[in-house]
Amino acid sequence: MDAYGLTYNCLTFDILRDFPYGVFEDMSPTRKIIATFEYLKNLFTDIGNEQSGGMALANFDNDLATILEGLGVELDSTSRELIADCIHQLIHWCNHTHTRMGQTSYYVSLNIGLAKGEFARFLAKTLLKEFEGSGDLVFKPNIIFKVKAGVNRFEEDPNYDLLKAALLCSAKKMIPTYVLCDSTPNRDVDPEKLAIMGCRTRVVADLYGENSSIGRGNIDNISINLPRLALMVEREMPDADFNRKMDAFTAKWDEIASTTKDILLDRFEQVCARTHADFPINRVHHLWKEDFTDLPSVFRHGTLSLGFIGLSEAMEVPSGQRFYEDIRCYMSALGFVRHMREYCDFLRNHFRLNFSLLATSGELISGRFIDMDERAFNTKADIFAKGFYTNSFHVNVDSDLPAFQKLRLEGIFHEFCNGGCITYAELGEAPLTNDEGLKEYIECAIESGVHYLGFNFPKDVCDECGASGVFDTCPVCGSGSITRIRRVSGYLEILDGFTKGKKNEEMHRRAN
Ligand SMILES: [Zn+2]
Repeated sequence: MDAYGLTYNCLTFDILRDFPYGVFEDMSPTRKIIATFEYLKNLFTDIGNEQSGGMALANFDNDLATILEGLGVELDSTSRELIADCIHQLIHWCNHTHTRMGQTSYYVSLNIGLAKGEFARFLAKTLLKEFEGSGDLVFKPNIIFKVKAGVNRFEEDPNYDLLKAALLCSAKKMIPTYVLCDSTPNRDVDPEKLAIMGCRTRVVADLYGENSSIGRGNIDNISINLPRLALMVEREMPDADFNRKMDAFTAKWDEIASTTKDILLDRFEQVCARTHADFPINRVHHLWKEDFTDLPSVFRHGTLSLGFIGLSEAMEVPSGQRFYEDIRCYMSALGFVRHMREYCDFLRNHFRLNFSLLATSGELISGRFIDMDERAFNTKADIFAKGFYTNSFHVNVDSDLPAFQKLRLEGIFHEFCNGGCITYAELGEAPLTNDEGLKEYIECAIESGVHYLGFNFPKDVCDECGASGVFDTCPVCGSGSITRIRRVSGYLEILDGFTKGKKNEEMHRRAN
């Protein structure tokens, strides 16, 4: 709401479109490297305060190599060392700079994996190495690894070593996450042009240009509380059968989705009605697909997303069971998500704007919505006991399902959620050194239609000696002062910083 009508949400930089090589021309090679990283951090700071959400680079490795090579920087032992220091410092900056809106850090996402050539490969490898070595309490930026056959997916591929390094890093730190370029939802998209923003946002199809994430972003998104609609139906027609309740539930969604569409359109029109003077940084840096001379022609490339939270609870209310434990329920859930997507496609064609369906993480709403609903409804259904609504279409976090089965159950939903979604494999503990095991999950995810995959595991860090694992008392020094790091909504966070709903979710988590 803070940004309503004032600005857009997020942007994947078109960093190469108008990079100001001239500014760096007369510098020494050393100075060029330092100044390039400074330039990048300044961009994150300036753009991060001109928009409301995250920033991404679609190919950190290839793009930065193009820039540095374009500046005449050669890869030798001196430059390697300096670049590693700069990357180290960039990671530090992402974790410790809290100047966004005067108080928070910047959501930076670096996509890597398709590195061509020695320079780009060095940048990808160094980013992973520096991140892995940066200590347990460092969990920014978001790193997204693009998995692609012929590039890095198989042993004979030129960047297979990068995938291996990425998996070993994830086994320790839960980052990177993996965008699966060969999966059904992504296989027709040029991997170079595919990027994930933040924890899941996906901007690909464009009515006004090629399918690409670069130079585009999400304008706005609004999430619909599905369990509430189910609770309303339950109150109105408690004795109806499951199918009639589902029909009524869908009709209620249609109504609220139409209102949501009106709000999204209003936000879009308001942001388009501003002037280029309201976007001084964007006007200078040309990071969008088009220049900020005519705002509607810039923002029409952006997406307007309808999101949803709590599919699982919404299905449990009329059926009394978990949707993934009953085939009829599962098919109904799938049919409903397809329905939501069809509505977004209808809006896209009708209004000629890039509407998309977003499987929302619900960082702030998972606990807030359930509290509001618990006060408003009195129901037999047991959905309030756990204190949070389940993320998007995910199966419940305490499902006890084997990870492979979770991937297969959730994978089918990915194709419908073109505005972004993720599936997590929940592991009992850090799968240290087990990159082969994680690779098996990646293969299963690709076959199951999962387009974006993350690995979660609980991670406790001793405040005294830095030992990490899963414990209440440090097994090394006996200290009881422990920092708990978890990925609950999409970003890694320290447990104490979680909202109530997310804390409840974490308590209910069971390994797959
Ligand atoms: Zn200790």
